[in-house]
Amino acid sequence: MARAKQTLPRNLAILVVVVGLGVQIVTTCYKKSDTTPSTKQQPPSTASTATPNQTGTIHLEMGIPTGGDGEPSYLLKRKQYALSYNGTKNVPNWVSYHLNASYFGTVERKQGQFMPDPDLPPQFYKVRHQDYSNSGFDRGHMVRSEERTATREDNDATFYTTNLLPQRHDLNAGPWLRLEEFCQFLAVRKKKELYIICGGIFPKNYQTIGKQNNIAVPSHCFKIIVVLESGQGVRDVNENTTVIAAIMPNVEGIKKEQWRQYQTTVDEIEQQTGYDFLTAVPQKIQEAIERRIATSLVAMAQ
Ligand code: MN
Ligand code: MN
Repeated sequence: MARAKQTLPRNLAILVVVVGLGVQIVTTCYKKSDTTPSTKQQPPSTASTATPNQTGTIHLEMGIPTGGDGEPSYLLKRKQYALSYNGTKNVPNWVSYHLNASYFGTVERKQGQFMPDPDLPPQFYKVRHQDYSNSGFDRGHMVRSEERTATREDNDATFYTTNLLPQRHDLNAGPWLRLEEFCQFLAVRKKKELYIICGGIFPKNYQTIGKQNNIAVPSHCFKIIVVLESGQGVRDVNENTTVIAAIMPNVEGIKKEQWRQYQTTVDEIEQQTGYDFLTAVPQKIQEAIERRIATSLVAMAQ
């Protein structure tokens, strides 16, 4: 009896501590979700595909492109996208990224300048915002700012200069933008799962811009969009999968043009860039989807 009386207050004390901790944890969680406006969004990194691929990032779900021009390049993977950076041209060879509705949120476009990429190895020239100033070219996002608006961090990551190509304004604000808007329509309105690869095509004697004249200007920009249903990944790609491909000239005077007139095949992009794309797709399926110009889904584009 005496023992029981003694242990009762101790039990009570433990109970109070446990309940107290519980309240604290609940409060912390509540505060976190309360101050983060994007908690309704799924975290974009693992999104909805079931199995992680061998590259360790959803942004390379269709495989790492192989080939290219053999110039020194660096494979850069970050939470928001993956890219191959060309140390001679000082632009990306290609940028590869996953897109679905979860990446679109309410974060506002980053204010201010583009940032040199801190994740580039030291031997690479770090392109600065000013390198594009008065060049006659826009700072053309590859991963579009609007496509990473779930968190502040995500949007900021599109403003690294490694995510840029020099684009003529009429391309950037014309058919290129309209194809970006069509991707947004497919992702947000049609709930599609998109796997996008884009970049530049360079002639032998390409133009350069920049304070050190070391940033290559592409003659054309390309974009490949693998369109899958919600939750699908590379294992779901088959001979009937829609793959949208486009090559657009990097020129003025095309602002009013529709993107569909620049539709082409992945085969054509592979021939002009020297890359093999969609390398994680079985060879026989690649052959089927890379030679075709997409028609069914694209009919929805205005
Ligand atoms: Mn743009
Ligand atoms: Mn291929």
